[in-house]
Amino acid sequence: MVYSDELMRLATTAEIKAKKQFEEIDERAFKNQVKVMNAFRDNKIKAEHFASTSGYGYNDAGREAIEALYASVFECQAALVRHSIVSGTQALTIGLFGLLRPGDTLLCVTGKPYDTLEEVIGLQGQPGNGSLKDFGVNYRETSLTEDGRFDTDAIISAIDDTTKVIYIQKSRGYCNRPTLRNEDIGVLVKAVKAEKSDLFVMVDNCYGEFCELHEPTYYGADLAVGSLIKNPGGGMAESGGYLAGSKRAVELCAYRLTAPGIGGETGATLGQNKSIIKGLFYAPHTTAQALKTAVFAASLFEEMQLDSSPRSDETRYDIIQTLTFSDEQPLISFCEGIQSGSPIDSFVTPVPWDMPGYQDEVIMAAGTFTQGASIELSADAPIRAPFTVYIQGGLTYESGKIGILSAAQRVLDQRSGK
Ligand SMILES: *Cc1c(COP(=O)(O)O)cnc(C)c1O
Repeated sequence: MVYSDELMRLATTAEIKAKKQFEEIDERAFKNQVKVMNAFRDNKIKAEHFASTSGYGYNDAGREAIEALYASVFECQAALVRHSIVSGTQALTIGLFGLLRPGDTLLCVTGKPYDTLEEVIGLQGQPGNGSLKDFGVNYRETSLTEDGRFDTDAIISAIDDTTKVIYIQKSRGYCNRPTLRNEDIGVLVKAVKAEKSDLFVMVDNCYGEFCELHEPTYYGADLAVGSLIKNPGGGMAESGGYLAGSKRAVELCAYRLTAPGIGGETGATLGQNKSIIKGLFYAPHTTAQALKTAVFAASLFEEMQLDSSPRSDETRYDIIQTLTFSDEQPLISFCEGIQSGSPIDSFVTPVPWDMPGYQDEVIMAAGTFTQGASIELSADAPIRAPFTVYIQGGLTYESGKIGILSAAQRVLDQRSGK
């Protein structure tokens, strides 16, 4: 890889300007590592927990230890953590179908939910496919305020007798809006529970884990849900998802995952325990590497006068960095640059395609060890205006920086007509 002198000059300045943010990120990673190490000690994690089970997987001590570990780290009563959950979307689907019943209303308070959830809820897709709507679950939505905060008055007045789940998407997803802070989620939890005490508050926590000192469950959310090929898997978990929260909420989700009456007591782990445990051990550090990569990217894009968010000096509540182009072509070049600066499949050219669950074509650059892992450096964009690319991950700051430089070089080359 060859970077121009111009790019290296910009990169040096960008890195110097990012120093203070890097220090804060390292400090938070240390505090989160303390939390994780304490959880390992409290739950007496030992080599036997790495053992594999098959069949029903009864009495899988490792599986039970993993779920206790997650409950400790998320500072809540219980967790369901399974390598067999195929994605974040499936984990969220288990949460929604676990908590909601016919006649209930799901109230999403962060505007339009993440693209893949639309078919789950029944806002898109074929009637009869088994969406919440097919099962008689109603849907309502309130938007965030113009400055990206909860519209508490609108939320409270949208709650009625049928409201069962208040749904919060913490991270921006494929939207240009700020990511929510867990403390602010806590304030909303109090307000909605004062209005109706038997509600469940469920948080799509994807990309948010370990960016702050406490997870949404610490602040009273009944359920936090995410993917193991994002932050909490630490780049080690081969696949999976988690749901962490109150005993009752997690139990209902376990009944949905397996069968009522069986719940979380079964599930062979097929040799995946060690990578999940090791991944959680790495997660605070790996998330910090991704955060530093994002801050470096923001700082560099600022030097390049590109339209990017969040700013390099802003406190972050997830690992996403966005970059908006005026049209499709530079966006595709940028993604090609990320791909070429990746350890795996660096020779491949990413192209937009009709990904299942998404309404627009999506381009995804991810030269990753684990297929589609977005805790590894990746960039993706739905092909629609505004032409925004979502950048996240970086297993190590050094490799993340290399990927960002490769993409930035493509943008500079294109500007100078190369
Ligand atoms: C990644 C993500 C999901 C789930 O995506 P999968 O690709 O199914 O793992 C849901 N919500 C948000 C905000 C996400 O970032």
